[in-house]
Amino acid sequence: MTLDSSIISKFIDACGKNSVLADQDERWVYGYDNSKQHACPDLVLLPQQHEQILQAVKICNEYKIPLTTRGRGTGTTGAAVPIQAGVILSTERMNQVLEFDNKNRNIRVEPGVLNVEVQKHAAEKNLFWPPDPSSADYCSIGGNLACNAAGPRAVKYGTCRENTLSLTAITGAGEAIHTGSATTKGVVGLDLTRLLIGSEGILGIITEARLKLSPKPECINTIRALYKNSNIAIEAVVNILAQSALPYALEFIDSGSLNLIRNNSSLELDREARAMLMIEVDGLNENIQSSTQAVLSAANIVGCIEIQTAADEQQKTQLWAARKALSPALRSFAPNKINEDVVVPVTQLPTLLTELEKLSKKYDIAIFNFGHAGNGNLHVNLLYDATKQEEPARNCLNDVFELTLKLGGTLSGEHGVGIAKRDYVSQEIDATTLSLMLKIKQQFDPNNILNPGKTLPSTGMHYN
Ligand SMILES: Cc1cc2nc3c(=O)[nH]c(=O)nc-3n(C[C@H](O)[C@H](O)[C@H](O)COP(=O)(O)OP(=O)(O)OC[C@H]3O[C@@H](n4cnc5c(N)ncnc54)[C@H](O)[C@@H]3O)c2cc1C
Repeated sequence: MTLDSSIISKFIDACGKNSVLADQDERWVYGYDNSKQHACPDLVLLPQQHEQILQAVKICNEYKIPLTTRGRGTGTTGAAVPIQAGVILSTERMNQVLEFDNKNRNIRVEPGVLNVEVQKHAAEKNLFWPPDPSSADYCSIGGNLACNAAGPRAVKYGTCRENTLSLTAITGAGEAIHTGSATTKGVVGLDLTRLLIGSEGILGIITEARLKLSPKPECINTIRALYKNSNIAIEAVVNILAQSALPYALEFIDSGSLNLIRNNSSLELDREARAMLMIEVDGLNENIQSSTQAVLSAANIVGCIEIQTAADEQQKTQLWAARKALSPALRSFAPNKINEDVVVPVTQLPTLLTELEKLSKKYDIAIFNFGHAGNGNLHVNLLYDATKQEEPARNCLNDVFELTLKLGGTLSGEHGVGIAKRDYVSQEIDATTLSLMLKIKQQFDPNNILNPGKTLPSTGMHYN
């Protein structure tokens, strides 16, 4: 549907004429995210202030108009796609750093600030914000928080939930709330900060965040280790996690992925190697050598074919080149890809990998696995041709999720649920707990205007 012009006038009064896009060709481009799904919104709002968002949410409530918040649309699950049309509220113009309190190690930002901008600010005072999705140059802090985004550093420094002090948000009911405090400790009230983080915009719109910064490591050493098979590589991961020098990154690449790298790049990787770990160790100049040595000893077990440490920046780049060659190689393998990010307890990774190999044979679907082994978080990539293999790929995916849950895991470590995994959520979360979550959603958003039909099953609202 298109919105009545009198309603559009109300949004213009709330946000200003230049912050409302009503032409179809302008609205169309706000209908995508990286899931490749698309739905055209009826209206796009580009607010610049908290107060404008407050007014816009009130109008959406009055007319029961669905409202989807959008950061930069890099999400992979369709969470920012306006599947029921209505309003897209893009935070791209709320891109100001409001306060940089380096002495208390935090930074207060608007939601549209890019992750990379936070890192640049923090670096001026030798600090950094740990969440490091590989999309950091393009994705917004609001999107990071709403998805609880993370990356390789999560193994040591945690995700957004561990690195956010406080939030200001507007609930679906159109009320401004303040969660957390500017301190690194605090136990007053319920922890609504952690509740909003990872809620994918279904409870409230984050309009401000105070992020907790960490001191930048003085040094980071890079290690690449090749193994005879995945089981041995994961044994090394468990060994590494059992000693006291917790790595800054602990990434795994499986045999199929190594073959892809060999076939699509000029990189020389020992032919016997069937698994690889990329490890980074951080610390002070004075103790980095001993920490690196401890990690090397833990990684260098029987079945380790080769272990290399980079001596300088050039060698670091060379060691990471194999991992970086992987994404383009995947794109060349098959026309379609399902990229999941399941998590299991680290010690269950060998079983997960063995069973994934069996599923690959059963459904004749190529599966390539790599990712954040230190968190038990694997990117399971199903590569196929949708014109011939759509059904087997979907059945294979169902089995991947069933297997993950059987191993005590969770369906997503960082990408979230959106629409892609919404129908699987009730397999992971029991009915009583899910019902409590739906009641919480109702409290925050009684008219179910925020991202309806996403993230939790049965939150569907359809407006006409
Ligand atoms: C090449 C590539 C690499 C990636 N690598 C990683 C990775 O390493 N790790 C990782 O975790 N993710 C990764 N992602 C996924 C994605 O970049 C992250 O989820 C990112 O946090 C999304 O940010 P965004 O600004 O693009 O949000 P969007 O995609 O615009 O939105 C994502 C969700 O957040 C909600 N949202 C956005 N802003 C707000 C707000 N202010 N208040 C409330 N809700 C809001 C939206 O409604 C939606 O539900 C990758 C994506 C790409 C394309």
